Amino acid sequence: MATTTDAIIIGAGVHGASLAYHLARRGMRPTVIERASFGAGATGRSSGLVRMHYDVEGDAALAWASFRIFRDWPEIVGGECGFTRTGFLKFVPPAFHDALRANVAMHQRLGIPSLLIGADDVRRLAPGIAVDDATIAAFEPESGYADPTATTAGFLSAARAMGAHLVQGHAVTAVTTKGGRVTGVRTNGDAYAAPIVVDAAGAWAGQVAAMVGLELPLQVWRHDVAYIRRPAGSPTTHPTVIDDAEAMYFRPEGHDLTLVALEDGNEIGDFSPERETATTAPGFSERVADRLTRRLPMMADGTLHSAHSGQDGITPDQHAIIGPAGPDSFYLDCGYSGTGFKIAPAVGESLAELICEGRNTTTVDLAPFRLARFAEGRPIVGEHAYEAIWR
Ligand SMILES: Cc1cc2nc3c(=O)[nH]c(=O)nc-3n(C[C@H](O)[C@H](O)[C@H](O)COP(=O)(O)OP(=O)(O)OC[C@H]3O[C@@H](n4cnc5c(N)ncnc54)[C@H](O)[C@@H]3O)c2cc1C
Repeated sequence: MATTTDAIIIGAGVHGASLAYHLARRGMRPTVIERASFGAGATGRSSGLVRMHYDVEGDAALAWASFRIFRDWPEIVGGECGFTRTGFLKFVPPAFHDALRANVAMHQRLGIPSLLIGADDVRRLAPGIAVDDATIAAFEPESGYADPTATTAGFLSAARAMGAHLVQGHAVTAVTTKGGRVTGVRTNGDAYAAPIVVDAAGAWAGQVAAMVGLELPLQVWRHDVAYIRRPAGSPTTHPTVIDDAEAMYFRPEGHDLTLVALEDGNEIGDFSPERETATTAPGFSERVADRLTRRLPMMADGTLHSAHSGQDGITPDQHAIIGPAGPDSFYLDCGYSGTGFKIAPAVGESLAELICEGRNTTTVDLAPFRLARFAEGRPIVGEHAYEAIWR
């Protein structure tokens, strides 16, 4: 006999957890079903950057709405999400300086604390960072990073306190439908009846969507991350940086490590989301060392602490797929393309409103993220676009 629940969320990554929390806040008692354990997918490997700088207004709006939840986490969700304010710098190659100016203006219109600064300001803010005199950067004084596993655990624990359920170690193997609408799911253990089913299965989301006959334009993206121990005597922190000029990002981790990863050389394809993530691509550490020491010369004396890989689902325009698709009351919450952590709080809030009210009136409009944009030939592109982040 099937267990009856208000909604099924497939996948307990940060997106499934955020949605469970926001549905529970609206009085629903959803069940999150996870094949392994919470955070076992992209979320548990995420670098956790929390910044608002995007070249697409919808992303910036979601990141800004999320930021306030990260910042005020203890009062809103309870407990800790590990939010650490470091300040954030965005560098782009000179060909994109006009786009940087335009995007900072767009962020300021949204109310995001962001400003354009020059080389001298960068040197004052972060004495260790090497810039030439022509450099300009976007600076977000409030941004930083958070702990993705703690964020997910926090959402799940608050959701459970409001009546949500978490089932771990059970994979959804079928989504059931009747008369064109979803009726529940079957797992490798049990069956559940629910009027709403949400696919938040990360890099596996295409497999779940196929259970209702939907084909998603989704591939697997693999991304390597290194932790470098800063040399003795170097500053105990530095800003979080996205450096498109060096195709790299980095942030402090604790007091003596720097997390660093590259925007190029990330494998994208139809390989298995189950691949091991303990190892990185050949030559990765050498490429990291090369670029990091150009921007942070003090790291020439740094030592490699550790490195790992991670995988996320990626779409052709490197933007998420969110909203209803396929049978009635089936929703997609996937395709986060390597940048989905920082927007998860607001996506959960917006999707919960869409599910409960049928539209976004008090939350960020999710319509631009609909699956149909690909068939319509209307991919998401910024008005003042940079190069695609993953290349
Ligand atoms: C190395 C790395 C670094 C990143 N850095 C950043 C960053 O700095 N900032 C940022 O914003 N984003 C970053 N991202 C992206 C971000 O982490 C992801 O977009 C986000 O975590 C995706 O969350 P999710 O819940 O959609 O997917 P996931 O975390 O992958 O969760 C999906 C879950 O679904 C489960 N599942 C799959 N199939 C089934 C099934 N049939 N039944 C039940 N459960 C199932 C999986 O086990 C998994 O736990 C990074 C990603 C990686 C990999």
